[in-house]
Formats: sequence, structure tokens, C-alpha cells
Amino acid sequence: MEFNSVNFDTYFNNYPDKDGFFGKYGGSYISDDLKKAMQEINEAYFTICKSSKFISELRKIRKEFQGRPTPISHLERLSASLGNVQLYAKREDLNHSGAHKLNHCMGEVLLAKYMGKKKVIAETGAGQHGVALATAAAYFGLECDIYMGAVDIKKQAPNVARMKILGANIVEVTHGLATLKEAVDAAFEAYAKDYKNSIYCIGSVVGPHPFPMMVRDFQSIIGIESREQFLEMTGNLPDAVVACVGGGSNAMGMFSGFLNDPVDIYGIEPLGRGTQLGDHAASLQYGTEGIMHGFNSIMLKDENGEPAPVYSVASGLDYPSSGPEHAFLHDIGRVKYDVISDDETIDAFFTLSRMEGIIPAIESAHAVAYGMKLAKTMGTGSVLINLSGRGDKDMDYVIENYGIR
Ligand SMILES: *Cc1c(COP(=O)(O)O)cnc(C)c1O
Repeated sequence: MEFNSVNFDTYFNNYPDKDGFFGKYGGSYISDDLKKAMQEINEAYFTICKSSKFISELRKIRKEFQGRPTPISHLERLSASLGNVQLYAKREDLNHSGAHKLNHCMGEVLLAKYMGKKKVIAETGAGQHGVALATAAAYFGLECDIYMGAVDIKKQAPNVARMKILGANIVEVTHGLATLKEAVDAAFEAYAKDYKNSIYCIGSVVGPHPFPMMVRDFQSIIGIESREQFLEMTGNLPDAVVACVGGGSNAMGMFSGFLNDPVDIYGIEPLGRGTQLGDHAASLQYGTEGIMHGFNSIMLKDENGEPAPVYSVASGLDYPSSGPEHAFLHDIGRVKYDVISDDETIDAFFTLSRMEGIIPAIESAHAVAYGMKLAKTMGTGSVLINLSGRGDKDMDYVIENYGIR
């Protein structure tokens, strides 16, 4: 299928190109020290990850440890309440550890093991990436250093406890605002110093090449399974697929399975409290081209051109940019990007819980809310929603701030 002169039959051979570009987005804007380290990961990725031994080991892990394939559920009661459109959910909430993030963490740490690394390094904000990586590190018996801002450590006590129980070492970052941005810098610094022994594991389809490609490829299991399962369940492809976009890994995983199909694809960003800069994290909707964290993409900037402060009720979505592949798919129009507010999200959180017995992560509830909107406007057809994670982690917050609706 061709779309705006991009040929999707051969898309994965050409995007990204050998330097990590999706059109003008992506690439690798980093120090020379880190360039060497990224080169090493890139070479290892192309030899090790394409080997049949690696592929069969990852396949076994997905089945026997992660519990894949995750099912697709037909949301029958929710669909009936909205009209004739049939809504379905891909159940990444049932992936081990409760979200899609383990898909790429298991791949990244398996690669680390094959490369002979002793330690994995990452930063975490809300703690979801840290927990997934600590899980993978425990499985493979590798050391795990998680850099976390002092402010976030206080806020995210349950995830900090989880990481510690899993054997991870939490490195407290106290300088600056002591939140995610400082933790990113500290993690990269530690990695540049010790890249012989360790490997940096990124949390989404962001960062310098080869991370956006590597994380997409590991997450593409979502789209591959979904396409096959949906065809088997219904005899057709869905008319539309929907996923929430923070950095964009669960969305890229789902979308990659349907890019070459006559399927409408929707990526949903958080509108938070409103359209004012600082009140949302809808970078593709309101941002401009720029470089941060080692890659070129569309980002939200402050008056100095630095990453702007962002906000969303979903801590997993409050990132001031999105992966370069999303910026590319946005510009060529293959994926439509739209927004959902905090209020719409919380409504969808309760609606899915009450009507289907599934408590979604607040991140995923953005996609659910948009799926519900589509159901009302489409009239007929089917929508597949990527339910990226479960909402246990969010229950206390929702009750405290919104009560029982
Ligand atoms: C982290 C997270 C997200 C956002 O990350 P992406 O890379 O955009 O997928 C979405 N849903 C859940 C449940 C998460 O934990």
C-alpha cells in the first residue's frame, strides 16, 4: 500500500534508514563517548537480534514467562451502550507485570545478556519503566541501577518498593528539580562512564538511534498478535485501531501491525487540563520540530527552546516529545493524532471498569475514551483499542482526587 509516496509494502526495510532517520526525524545527537556505545548496541542488535537463537529464546520467554499471547476482548456491553460500532481491547494489561513495557524490557535485557553485559541502567519517572526493567533484570540475573529523582522517589513509594523487592539498586538524584529530567542526565552520564560493563535500557520509542527502532521492533509483537487474533475472531480487519501516545511505544507496537492495511490509525495524546502550554503533554498536536534527549522530533518547548514543563493525569504520558517515527507518521498523515482530556479519561476509566470489569491504567483510559468517541461518530464498524496496562497502580490516586463516580 502506498500513502503520500511512502511505500508501506517495504516500510520496515526503509524506516528508519541506516542512520536512524524516519524522514527528517530521529537520528543520533549525542556526545562522542555515547556514540561509541550506541554503535556497539546497533551492531549487536543487527547480528544478535536477527539470529534464530535469540528469536527462539525471546519467543519462549514471551510464552512461558510473560504469558503471551495476550487476548483480545470484545467489549460487548460497552459497545451496546454506545450504538452499533463494536469495540475490542488488546489486553496488554494481562502481560506479566501489568503493562506492555515488559515487551521491550525483556528484549533489551536479553540483548544485554548476549552482549555479555553485567548491568542494566535506566532512569524512571513514575516508576513503571523501572519496575519493568527490574523484572527483566531479575529474570536474567543482571544487576540493575535505576536513576530516580528524589521528588519522584517520595511520590512513587509503591513502585520504589517493587523495584527494591526485585533486587534493583535505586540511585537517588538530588540536583536541580530532582525529577525525571535530572534522572535522565544522571543515567546517561553513568552509562557513558561504564558502557563496557553495562547497557542503557530506554523506556519508549525515543532517544538516539537505534533505540526508537529497537523498542518498536520488540513492541511489534502487539500488532502482529492483534492482526492475527482479530482476523480469527471476526473474519475481518478492524476499521480503526487506537492507542495512547506518551513516548509512543505501545502505540508503535500496535500500529506497526496495521500500517500496510486499509485501517484508520489513531494516536491519542493527553490534553490534561487544557490547551495552554504547561497544562498538557500533547507534543504532536501543539509542538514544533526540535532536538532533545539525543533525537530530532516534534516537541513542546519553553521560551528558551528547552523542553517545556508538561502535565497529564497519566504520569506515563507526560513527556514533552514523542518518538521520531510518530512525528514522521504524523507529517505524512498515515496516523491521525488527536487528544483526550483528563476529565474524559477519568470518565472512561470508570466506564470500562463498570461495564466490562476491566480497570485500565489511566494512560490506557485515554485510548478507551477516544474509542468511545469514535463509536459514537462512526455509526457502524469495529475499533480495536490497545489497553496498554492495568489500573491497580492508579486506584488510590483516582479515589483521592476524583472520588467514586
Ligand atoms: C508507560 C506507559 C504508557 C506510555 O508509554 P508509551 O511509550 O507511549 O507506550 C502507556 N501506558 C502504560 C500502561 C504505561 O505504563
